[in-house]
Amino acid sequence: MGDGPLPTLRLNIDRNALEHNWRALDRMSGSARAGVAVKANCYGLGVDACVPILRAAGADLFFVAHWSEVEQVAHHVKAGSIAVLHGPMTRGDAEYARQRNVTPVINSLKQAQLWAESGGGPCHLMVDTGINRLGISPQEAGDAAIRQLEVVGLFSHLACADEDSAMNAEQLQAFRDVLPFVPHQFASLANSAGIALGSEFHFDVTRPGLALYGGIPRQELAGEIRQVATPEAAIIQTRQLSAGDRVGYNATFTAPAAMRVGVASIGYADGLLRCWGGKDAFMLHGGRRLPLLGRVSMDMVVIDLSNAPELSEGDWVQVPYHLPDAAQHSGLSQYELLTVLGRRLKTS
Ligand SMILES: *Cc1c(COP(=O)(O)O)cnc(C)c1O
Repeated sequence: MGDGPLPTLRLNIDRNALEHNWRALDRMSGSARAGVAVKANCYGLGVDACVPILRAAGADLFFVAHWSEVEQVAHHVKAGSIAVLHGPMTRGDAEYARQRNVTPVINSLKQAQLWAESGGGPCHLMVDTGINRLGISPQEAGDAAIRQLEVVGLFSHLACADEDSAMNAEQLQAFRDVLPFVPHQFASLANSAGIALGSEFHFDVTRPGLALYGGIPRQELAGEIRQVATPEAAIIQTRQLSAGDRVGYNATFTAPAAMRVGVASIGYADGLLRCWGGKDAFMLHGGRRLPLLGRVSMDMVVIDLSNAPELSEGDWVQVPYHLPDAAQHSGLSQYELLTVLGRRLKTS
């Protein structure tokens, strides 16, 4: 009897780097404490892999977007430390929040009314200061529907924190102006990039997401943040090509000379989108670059093994996933590079 099928694809999570990043962001938040965005399955890296580490490192406030994301996170942390950013759309959402002791983020007068009518209780409140996504307007802060709320965290969200934009200071001022009008226990404005904008952006709680998982939205974070996620694929076949042989769909690569190639078990279904293909694309083994040949397929890529003659079936190669470089190379955002990672990647 064998030991069952062996995976040929995995997502390597550097748990030390994740812990390091939380500590770095918490430290850079100064006197504020760092909550953590764990929405979208911890940006694609896996709630079960990441949340216990963040919690052990000291995080005690966890942000998800959807109600459907609560259950898995609540497996690892007290439900009372979870906040749902999209807020309640229905009475059912509000009842679930209360029953589960999860804190909703109220984003409109309508949500405020719904929350109050269904029994009220502690909630967070999002104020829109210019991104025009979710949140009440500053003018609505004095509305009766808002005044009846028991606001724990008063939030706003920056539109351009990853740029040197005049909008950062404008949003900061707008947020400061609204604080006196809404009684609250803590105030929170900064995402990952916002932490790097300086102490006046920190308030009481920061809300990093991207940088926890290795993203570097601003240069100030470059020395502090370590890569967390590395997709790795096994070579599942090697082939010897002759000059003139073509590779992959639409035969976009033709071998200029005899060469040895490998087929690696990762494709666009796993998040290695076709924009990774083309000139200068490569996979890594140790520090060596193994050029990617032809199109990315759904389940495979073909790589040049000329630089690594010792590699054969069963050996593992890495996708170069240092996020700023990978974003440059693929044209995807660092956020997309994380959240696009597919389900077949087994966390190791
Ligand atoms: C996703 C999100 C964050 C985290 O932002 P990053 O840019 O990933 O650090 C913080 N606050 C809110 C409201 C969010 O939706």
